[in-house]
Amino acid sequence: MHLINADLHCHSHVSDGTLSPEALAERAHARGVALWSLTDHDEVGGQHRARDAALALGMDYLTGTEISVSFAGETVHIVGLGFDTDDAALQAGLAATRSGRRERAREMAAGLAQVGIAGAFEGALRYVGNPDLISRTHFARFMVESGACTDTHAVFRRYLTAGNPGYVPHQWAGLGAAVRWIREAGGVAVIAHPGRYRFTPTEEYALITEFIAHGGLGLEVVTGSHSAAEQMRYTDTALEFGLLASRGSDFHSPDESRTELGSLPGLSGRLTPVWGALQHRIQRARNRPLAAV
Ligand code: AMP
Ligand code: MN
Ligand code: MN
Ligand code: MN
Repeated sequence: MHLINADLHCHSHVSDGTLSPEALAERAHARGVALWSLTDHDEVGGQHRARDAALALGMDYLTGTEISVSFAGETVHIVGLGFDTDDAALQAGLAATRSGRRERAREMAAGLAQVGIAGAFEGALRYVGNPDLISRTHFARFMVESGACTDTHAVFRRYLTAGNPGYVPHQWAGLGAAVRWIREAGGVAVIAHPGRYRFTPTEEYALITEFIAHGGLGLEVVTGSHSAAEQMRYTDTALEFGLLASRGSDFHSPDESRTELGSLPGLSGRLTPVWGALQHRIQRARNRPLAAV
């Protein structure tokens, strides 16, 4: 078992989490996290704040983001770790990935209005911390508040997933582009929560082999959304394909998240942890003056 308490996946109010980067850093540190990464969706706007807060607490930090990708008709998430946040191509790629979100949100609200849920666009906006990043999670919070459902998972099940009235298909980044942005900015690309995708074995094999062909190196083996069986299965997958293993809670909010920061099972000792390949980045963050990742 790898004993370091690394948590390399979570969200602040810069994307669809509810806490600030500083509050997340404190919460992670208080729960024993020794190596942390904030991985906001399609966005690096919180990175300097997260890093400064982590280092002030004596916690190691890796830069992070979670890029939305379209692959085989499904949305796949690619986590990037340990990259330069000021890389121009990465920033442009993330901006392009974010750019359709507002129009998509208007279409989602139109679909919800047709089933009697009025004002969802304005309602969701009240929960948005970053006007560039309106997500389905913000709609879910509004719809719980307005009494349409009792919790956000129910909102997704009934309204915000394929075949339901608030769902709008969306074209995200390409897999190759997302991996390239991360890699060329000096980071490591990781397939997030592989157990969440509704792929056939053939599609999953295609995802992993194409990801590797593009230069992707990591697989999130331990995540808040994996069962014990999925964790074992993706341990084997990482070993079979020679992928580095990552671990992250995917924490979004004290009220909604099933998994707390830092409170995950350890990575099997048979795996090679992703942070082994990023020691120079961890060291560099330690040595840089604050706010210059
Ligand atoms: P978006 O990027 O706007 O499509 O929103 C995706 C986000 O919605 C994910 O990152 C999760 O935070 C959240 N999400 C997706 N599916 C569910 C679900 N079934 N229950 C709760 N939250 C979900
Ligand atoms: Mn999210
Ligand atoms: Mn995700
Ligand atoms: Mn996530």
